[in-house]
Amino acid sequence: MNRMNLEQYKGVFIYAQQVDNKIDAIALELLGKANDLAADLGTDVTAVLIGSDVKGLVDELAEYGADKVIVVDDPELKEYRTEPYTHALASVINEYKPDILLVGATAIGRDLGPRVSARVATGLTADCTVLEIGEFKARGDKEPRQGQLLMTRPAFGGNTIATIACPNHRPQMATVRPGVMQKKEPVAGAKAEVIEYNPGFTPNDKYVEILDIVKSVTETVDIQAAKILVSGGRGVGSAENFALLDDLAEALGGTVSCSRAVVDNGWKPKDLQVGQTGKTVRPNVYFAIGISGAIQHVAGMEESDIIIAINKDPDAPIFDVADYGIVGDALKIVPKLTEAIKAQ
Ligand code: FAD
Repeated sequence: MNRMNLEQYKGVFIYAQQVDNKIDAIALELLGKANDLAADLGTDVTAVLIGSDVKGLVDELAEYGADKVIVVDDPELKEYRTEPYTHALASVINEYKPDILLVGATAIGRDLGPRVSARVATGLTADCTVLEIGEFKARGDKEPRQGQLLMTRPAFGGNTIATIACPNHRPQMATVRPGVMQKKEPVAGAKAEVIEYNPGFTPNDKYVEILDIVKSVTETVDIQAAKILVSGGRGVGSAENFALLDDLAEALGGTVSCSRAVVDNGWKPKDLQVGQTGKTVRPNVYFAIGISGAIQHVAGMEESDIIIAINKDPDAPIFDVADYGIVGDALKIVPKLTEAIKAQ
C-alpha cells in the first residue's frame, strides 16, 4: 500500500459555500472554528470559494477570518452541480494539500464532502458537533501522534458520542452541522491573500444539465437566526392549536419552531424542525412547549442560553435541561403567558 506523505499537508481549509453569489452562514461558522484549530496548530486558514463571478465575496471571508482565499471561478460553476464542484474541490486539495478541510453539513456539503473525500482517497467524519486538536495513538504507534484533528459526532441515533481521528490520510475531513460553531466577530477592512486557480473544465456529457430552477414558493423562516424560539411538540395537540404559539411568538418578537413529531404529523414544515435530523439552534430563549425532551430533540437546542419548558408531565426529561419549568396544560398556560406579556 502506498503511504501518504503526511508532512506535505499543511493548513486548515474550509469550503466557503455560496449560493446565488451570497456566502452561506455556515462558511462563516466554519471560519470561526478553523481559526481556533489553526491557532492550536500554528498555521493559517484558507477558504476555498467555488462559483462563477464570485471574486466579490472574498472580502467578506477575509473579515470573518480567512488568511487566504483560493478562488475557482468558472462559468461551468454558476449553479451547484455535483460533478464540476467535486472536480474543483478535489483539484484544490491535490494542488494545495490541506492538513484539514471542513465542509458544512448542508444539502450541498452532504453531497460534495463524501464525493471529494472518495476522489482524494481520504476519510470523512460527517455531522461533527465538536472539533479539536489533540493527540491520537493509531494501531502500531509506539507514541501518540500530536496535532491530530479529533472529530466528535453523535452516533447510534444520538445514544452515544463517538470521537474519530484520521491518522493515516490527508486531508482530515469533517462536515459540520450549521448552527453548531460560532462565527468570529468580523474585522472590518481585513484583507486575505487571493489565489486564483482553475483546474480546467472540459465540457463533459456526463455533467448534469440544469434546464430550469424553480424556487420554493413557501415563505421560509430561518429558525437558526431567531433570538427567541417558541417551539411546540406533539403535546400542543393539533396544527390549529399552534395558533396559540404563534400569538406568544408574536408578543415576544420570536419565531415558532417544533419537534419532529409535529413535522411527522404534518402540522408544520420540516424547515422548522429542531434536533438531530432537523436544525441546531442557539437562541437567547427557547420555549419547549409540549415537548418531551427526547435526546434527538435536545441535541439540537441544549446550547440555548435560557430554556423554558411547559409540560403536563412533571417527569418529562425536558425538565432536566430546562432553566425554568412550568408543569401544567400548555393550552391553558400559553394564552395566559401571551396576555401577561402583551399587558407589560
Ligand atoms: P412526545 O415525545 O410525544 O412528547 C409530547 C410531550 O407533550 C409529552 O412530554 C407530554 O407530557 C406533553 N404534553 C401532552 N399534552 C400536553 C399539554 N396539553 N400540555 C403540556 N404538555 C403536554 N425529534 C426531534 O424533535 N428532532 C429531531 O431532529 C429528531 N431526530 C430523530 C432522529 C432519529 C434517528 C430518531 C430515532 C428520532 C428522532 N427524533 C427527533 C424523534 C424523537 O425521538 C422524539 O420522538 C420526538 O422528539 C418526540 O417529539 P415530542 O416531544 O413533540 O413528542
